[in-house]
Amino acid sequence: MCGIVGYIGKRKASEILINGLKRLEYRGYDSSGVALYENDKINILKQQGKVNQLDRMIPHDMVKSNIGIAHTRWATHGFPNYENAHPHTDNSKEIAIVHNGIIENYSAIKKKLLQDGYTFESDTDTEVLAVFIGALYKKTKNLEQAVRLALNEVDGTYGIAVVSSYEPDKIIAARLGSPMILGIGEDEYILASDAAAIIAHTKQVIYLEDKEMVVVRGDGYSTKTIDNLATTGDIKEIDFDIEQIEKSGYEHFMLKEIFEQPDSIRNSLRGRLIIDKGNVRLGGLNSVRDKLLRAKRIILTACGTSWHAALTAEYLIEQLAHIPVEVEYASEFRYRNPIIGPDDIVFALSQSGETLDTLAAIKEAQLKGATTLGIVNVVGSTIARETEAGIYLHAGPEIGVASTKAYTSQLTVMALIALYLGRQRYLSQLDGKRIGSEMMALPDKITSILAQTDKIKEIADQYYQVTNCLYLGRGVNFPLALEGALKLKEISYIHAEGYPAAEMKHGPIALIDENMPIIFIATQDEIYDKVLSNIEEVRTRRGKVIAIANEGDTRIASLANHVIYIPNTLPMLNPILAVVPLQLLSYYIAIKLGRDVDQPRNLAKSVTVE
Ligand code: GLU
Repeated sequence: MCGIVGYIGKRKASEILINGLKRLEYRGYDSSGVALYENDKINILKQQGKVNQLDRMIPHDMVKSNIGIAHTRWATHGFPNYENAHPHTDNSKEIAIVHNGIIENYSAIKKKLLQDGYTFESDTDTEVLAVFIGALYKKTKNLEQAVRLALNEVDGTYGIAVVSSYEPDKIIAARLGSPMILGIGEDEYILASDAAAIIAHTKQVIYLEDKEMVVVRGDGYSTKTIDNLATTGDIKEIDFDIEQIEKSGYEHFMLKEIFEQPDSIRNSLRGRLIIDKGNVRLGGLNSVRDKLLRAKRIILTACGTSWHAALTAEYLIEQLAHIPVEVEYASEFRYRNPIIGPDDIVFALSQSGETLDTLAAIKEAQLKGATTLGIVNVVGSTIARETEAGIYLHAGPEIGVASTKAYTSQLTVMALIALYLGRQRYLSQLDGKRIGSEMMALPDKITSILAQTDKIKEIADQYYQVTNCLYLGRGVNFPLALEGALKLKEISYIHAEGYPAAEMKHGPIALIDENMPIIFIATQDEIYDKVLSNIEEVRTRRGKVIAIANEGDTRIASLANHVIYIPNTLPMLNPILAVVPLQLLSYYIAIKLGRDVDQPRNLAKSVTVE
């Protein structure tokens, strides 16, 4: 969460920092600020609000500084107001820091600093770290040492960048649990919490490791641990291009990403299906193949939308590979002392690969001897590095806070894994071929669903004023009902719930009246008839039914108020298609309500705090 950018070089820092923040605004947008070194002092400009406002506050033509740091915040400690906005300074106002994460022992450190006469202007944990570094600087007269000593006392997580007029020739950055990347340009360096802020300047980067810091000067840098041991600082290349993080003519990133799904799924499949043999090639799993085939149990751990993808995968893996699967919220798994051992395989699903709860869950699983595997989108991310092996989604950068294309790529990759395991256990070549061919057909089928956007928009126009919504599905469509409801909540702020359709009568049916839309995922599978009965039950109570059904379904039109028809596929693959109209419905309802769909209230991409 939160965006950090730092610049040191020959160019004007203010513009580079602001442009970088704009790229990172999807990571947090409560407030924003910059610290620039100029005229022998640290100048801070910050405000409550979005980066555009900050941009307007900065007199770019007057500011000449070529060293600075900047931040866009996702508040954890203290309201999103001016005082709590970053950068924060020490008491001398000569040291400024920006921070991503949570300093868990901040109150103990603050108490001690208050006793020593230090003062505070904000409610943040970050200011405590800034003042602490200042106090240590007074003793050491060495910025690097002061930062190092402070970080050694800190519990919690941090990605930080520090500048100071005491030593104005450098930026110091460090990480523990929150990402920090150094971009290496020509005679210049860009620090950022996300490669999206760096790509416009260079593709050469160093991903800092946990407890690693970097001291960056205009003419070079050195990496070391916070215990002052030199590190190698391997240079890697960013794996995407600038065009991929532009809106490319779309009104919002979310809409662009919904429309990118035929391509993103193609990219997730590319080179992985061997259709004529009905097999799957997953190079990322080669090193753990034997362990996977011996597995007594698979545990899938994730948060939010990724957790819904994991729930879907439970159906697929159990069906195709006959391996028992359990799905766990990462945040619960890590704290409940789960019973796991060396025969268990734990998959961690995370778009960003930085989700803190998911990372902690795999560390817990590793401690207990399980094999951990990552299913992530962001190449080089922490979960990718901390797991034994894994599969990248290759969905391309996802900027919209509400996940769309990463979700369908997660479903695609999990289907590949189910097929991979299935073929090496019980599944015939014929079945493998059939499933593989259906998977290859998914992108074109999504294109045909996207062609119905106008119709979905009309439905959104009729229902945008509702206050509650119910999403119902059965079997593999149940997790999809959860995802549909989550998408609507996230971006429209309309209350929505997802339920297994048959569970409706055990509670949610009490909510149904003529104002309540109920979205049914009613595609052709073995329980289709039962779903029709559930639709009847809703109609009897005057609920408004919006059904997602298969082309050629002749029965549903007389029961539902609206039907969105999608192409046929294998029932197990259906969620990959049926989620698309649900995404579009949420998007157009949110637009009609005037919501900021790319940056919805209180949310942020890449949840790197607990
Ligand atoms: N904990 C810090 C704060 O609340 C940093 C939050 C962030 O990551 O944006 O200010």
